[in-house]
Amino acid sequence: MFVEEQAGGTVKRSAGQVYEFIEPVGHKAPSHAAYHRGLPDVLEQCDEQVYRLVEAEYDRLQNTLQLIAAENQCSRAVLAALGHIVQNKTTEGFVGRRFHGGCEVVDGLEQLAIDRANEVFGAQYANVQPHSGTSANQIVLTALLDSGDRILSLAMDQGGHVSHGAQVAFAGKFFEVEQYRVDRESFLLDYEAIAEQARRFRPKLLICGASAYARIIDFERFRAIADEVGAYLMADISHISSLIAAGVHPSPIDAAHFTTTSTYKPGGPRGGLILMGRDAQAPFAVGNKTVSLCERIEKATFPGFQGTPYLNNIAAKAVFFREMLSDEYQVRQAKIVENAQVLAEAFDDLGYDVLTGGTDNHMFLINVAHFRDGLTGLIAQHCLEDCGIIINMNRLPYDTQNARVTSGMRLGTPIVTRNGMGQAQMEQIARLVDNVLRGVEIVDAKHYCLNEALQTKTRQCVRALCTRFPLH
Ligand SMILES: *Cc1c(COP(=O)(O)O)cnc(C)c1O
Repeated sequence: MFVEEQAGGTVKRSAGQVYEFIEPVGHKAPSHAAYHRGLPDVLEQCDEQVYRLVEAEYDRLQNTLQLIAAENQCSRAVLAALGHIVQNKTTEGFVGRRFHGGCEVVDGLEQLAIDRANEVFGAQYANVQPHSGTSANQIVLTALLDSGDRILSLAMDQGGHVSHGAQVAFAGKFFEVEQYRVDRESFLLDYEAIAEQARRFRPKLLICGASAYARIIDFERFRAIADEVGAYLMADISHISSLIAAGVHPSPIDAAHFTTTSTYKPGGPRGGLILMGRDAQAPFAVGNKTVSLCERIEKATFPGFQGTPYLNNIAAKAVFFREMLSDEYQVRQAKIVENAQVLAEAFDDLGYDVLTGGTDNHMFLINVAHFRDGLTGLIAQHCLEDCGIIINMNRLPYDTQNARVTSGMRLGTPIVTRNGMGQAQMEQIARLVDNVLRGVEIVDAKHYCLNEALQTKTRQCVRALCTRFPLH
């Protein structure tokens, strides 16, 4: 045993014992619970300006209807993990192979998040370090591709995501990207056409998954196309990962070489996740060496694309993955789809053009230009927002309208379902939206006038609904 003096006390060390701290008389460090207690009050005292703004955001969320398909609402346990001192730990590398000392605790946290992610998705390998869904995708690209290599992916205006190779983004700059489209009439993925395009273009990476596609995605079919042309397949399930975890949508874990997702869309903390199934150990040639695909992904994560992981987000991911395994979560996913179907049908009954005629998942698109001449996605979004109904405008496949105006709106049901709303509320929401879109006076593609009485009345109804189903 040896004894050393430290600031404020004495530490005794001996083999096999981490440390024993002998408290000096008259000093007492705050306990973990005391240190974190009342954090909002601390913020109010230290920075009133930020406090007022975050308070206003809470009120906005509490008093308006959240129908953005890409948003969700995490639990208070997830929030607690996010706002935790764990955020201060800096390290690089992976569990058991870090570049900094002091990682025995965060190694435990990251391993827990990994084990739970594997269990939730039935995966062989999970990487919980990506800072976002976009980052997860970039890591896969970094792992597989050299500059100039070919990617085949769904175009952004067809429901794809900007990180899948859009010209304005990273992938579009450094790789040769071709994009596939949905069928012009049915707006469904046309697997035969995608296969043909793949045979001609011979991509090294085929990407499937979408931000605005309301129907089941056939991951097995995508894999067959990838195999035929010798491409890797990445399935980006950001929007539907909650449904996949609950078995409400088929899983890509074994069909795709890599499955990526954001973690906030299924209802967790902001962040990303990379999962692998049966191909996790498949060989990948690097120069004259061979590594496994999952080793390649780790190298591409750090040092390839990211620096230090956000350990508080990883702790929050661990909390969230446990929630995903709960009955409450699993049952809710089916309700999210049911609510989306009821809402889509209610719009259909009111005379709206719901693309593909309905939905298999949590969201759907409406062509608002088909509802009223001159109505645009931009006007729909803004006039609904004036009434406390939060949706987003969305380009539709083959949309002729300007990208900043659009002809579409996208609606999703994860948040309203989480807060306890059901069929009756979906029908009420459709009527509220319909009243506003019928009543708004269209000036031009970007300008409108909204009758004050209609706005006030709708706001009141929305507020009453939100008060009955508060943030949960
Ligand atoms: C939202 C989304 C992402 C991006 O996730 P971020 O965490 O916002 O970067 C990636 N892919 C798809 C399909 C998405 O819908």
